[in-house]
Amino acid sequence: MSFNTRNVLSEIPSYDVVEKDWPIKVNANECGMNLPPMVAERVMSRLSRIAFNRYPNEQYLALTEAIGRSFGLQPDNVLLGSGSSEIIEKVFYAFGGGRDRKIVYPWPSFSMYPIYAKAAEAEGVAFELSADDNYELDPKKFIDFVKKENPSLVVICNPNNPTGTVIKKSDVEYIAQNVDCALLIDEAYIDFDISESVTDVLLKYPNMMIARTFSKAFGLASARVGYMLASKSVVDIIGRAFMPYHMNVLSLVTADTAFTMRDEFIPRINMMISERKRMESELKKIDGIKVYESNTNFIFMNYDKAVQLNEALEGQGIGIRSFGNAPLLTNCIRISMGTREENDVWLKAVMDFVEASV
Ligand SMILES: *Cc1c(COP(=O)(O)O)cnc(C)c1O
Repeated sequence: MSFNTRNVLSEIPSYDVVEKDWPIKVNANECGMNLPPMVAERVMSRLSRIAFNRYPNEQYLALTEAIGRSFGLQPDNVLLGSGSSEIIEKVFYAFGGGRDRKIVYPWPSFSMYPIYAKAAEAEGVAFELSADDNYELDPKKFIDFVKKENPSLVVICNPNNPTGTVIKKSDVEYIAQNVDCALLIDEAYIDFDISESVTDVLLKYPNMMIARTFSKAFGLASARVGYMLASKSVVDIIGRAFMPYHMNVLSLVTADTAFTMRDEFIPRINMMISERKRMESELKKIDGIKVYESNTNFIFMNYDKAVQLNEALEGQGIGIRSFGNAPLLTNCIRISMGTREENDVWLKAVMDFVEASV
């Protein structure tokens, strides 16, 4: 029998994050709390009135209007996706399509970029960040690199996952002015450092697209909703890569409710930020652990026994993200902020491990 798929599929790793039911789950940068009760109640009441027999129409428009309005934009500046993952994947698809078409991104960054590049049959090109520079991006060097590579698309994750580093808004604009191709800014964590967002200057740069998600600060990872902001013509052309009715009404209504009630999320976003600061200052007291500056809801650090520490924490039911010996990330660990109680538990486990192994 012939079962002849595209060659590239066998080169794509399967997404095999072994997920256990961790008693303390701080490995995926999710929000540690379920929806605020008032929001959950409103979601349930709206879901009970859905016309399940109809394709999604007005619900899609309602959410694009609400999102657009909040940024001083029009509905046709907004494209919704099943998580910002779908947005990013389609943008890669739109700018890929040949080995001579390059997609450049600083690296290390979001693990899915190289995979989407491959799937789009583009060449993913990494601009390497160095631990010696605290993984900070030098805009001038980056622009020079982009000019040399001449890609069809540049992707910048700001703040960056997994390093937590932020790029100043002025530097993002400087890059936008100096690269002669499409530019996608992945703002998955920008709610934790909103002053560096470029949404308010978006329309100055016809090459710019911004991806946002409800999965992290807004704690809606289950619903899979994200969005892209861009000029009308960019939204129109990228939109053609999506199938009709790609967003389901349950997720649209849930995200619309959360977005309408977004003020309810501010206290918990502030709590995640203050917990990160508290954990950072505690971890910095521990000899042998290097904590990088983070502007997100997670902490990124280096420890020479990172792999053993990860195993020890696993044994205690604590799921964190260890990068093993991945290039540029050897002995690095990423821990998302849980509740205050959860953070106290993993911090104690880290301190006990370090103490026992000196
Ligand atoms: C989590 C994450 C996303 C996408 O999340 P979705 O759940 O698909 O919206 C995108 N980019 C980065 C850097 C992320 O960490």
